[in-house]
Amino acid sequence: MADAPTPLEPGGTNAVGVTLGLVGDEWNLLILRYAVMGVRRYGEWREALPISHAVLSGRLAYLTEMAVFEKAEYSGGRLEYRLTKRGRDLWTVLLTVWAWESTWVPQHAESLPVMVHLGCGSEFAPVLACHGCLDAVLPRDVAGTFGPSGGWERSVPSGTTRRRVASSAAGLFPQTMTLIGNRWSAAILGGAFQGLNRFRDFEQRLGAPPAVVADRLRVFRELGIFEQVPSPDRADWTTYHLTDKGRAFFPVVVTSIAWGQRWFQAPEGPALIYRHQGCGQWFAPRLLCGKCGAALRGQDVAVERPELA
Ligand SMILES: [Zn+2]
Ligand SMILES: [Zn+2]
Repeated sequence: MADAPTPLEPGGTNAVGVTLGLVGDEWNLLILRYAVMGVRRYGEWREALPISHAVLSGRLAYLTEMAVFEKAEYSGGRLEYRLTKRGRDLWTVLLTVWAWESTWVPQHAESLPVMVHLGCGSEFAPVLACHGCLDAVLPRDVAGTFGPSGGWERSVPSGTTRRRVASSAAGLFPQTMTLIGNRWSAAILGGAFQGLNRFRDFEQRLGAPPAVVADRLRVFRELGIFEQVPSPDRADWTTYHLTDKGRAFFPVVVTSIAWGQRWFQAPEGPALIYRHQGCGQWFAPRLLCGKCGAALRGQDVAVERPELA
């Protein structure tokens, strides 16, 4: 069953909301980071991460419920957590998060994994491309619109309040979490990639409280995700535009949403529909090796713990 998509409730949280609930949680990303490096047992995560019993067992139960892990006995009735096909499929999301963090966020409490493309033997950073034509794409090359299960209301991260209370992680991916770790930040970022750039539009189109919009715009400016640009139309209007750093987060957004829409399907249809302007086809993300240009497959990528200095 884990290899089949999960049907979502009609009218309920869509694939974007489900995905944000999962990917927008720092502990989940950290647990998955070790899982793709081969960790399967409770004690191994406890050793690898500054994580409490309550938080780890809660996240393992949640990720199992989401069919990212399946439980299996390994000896004497003891359980381990194996990545399902759906779980292994998250490698594109992890890779794009690591690549963005390592390029744009100077300080890390823990070193990021080293990614090696087995095809060419090089350490690499992934390049986002169009699945159809394999051309590298930038955010401006891809048009995203809401599909039949889209809309901001249905895209609210699911399950976050329940789990957020427990604790936040040790700040190992602080900037990724600032961007997608809560409802309004994720919506404002998503709105920016859909072309919103004015305070009033963020407020009205997203239905966000003005104080929240003001706060997030300030934080995004401080992190260098948005820059403030005076409107050419009216001197007293300011617009907020994604910087290079902000645009560079696009691969994380589209690989996450593609994963979510593959594995969680609303009966009405997709939440977001992308088109690649370059080739005119529906857009789905494909990652290329930044060194040799080959299209990557999960099994071609080795993830290694960094050498200790
Ligand atoms: Zn294309
Ligand atoms: Zn390569």
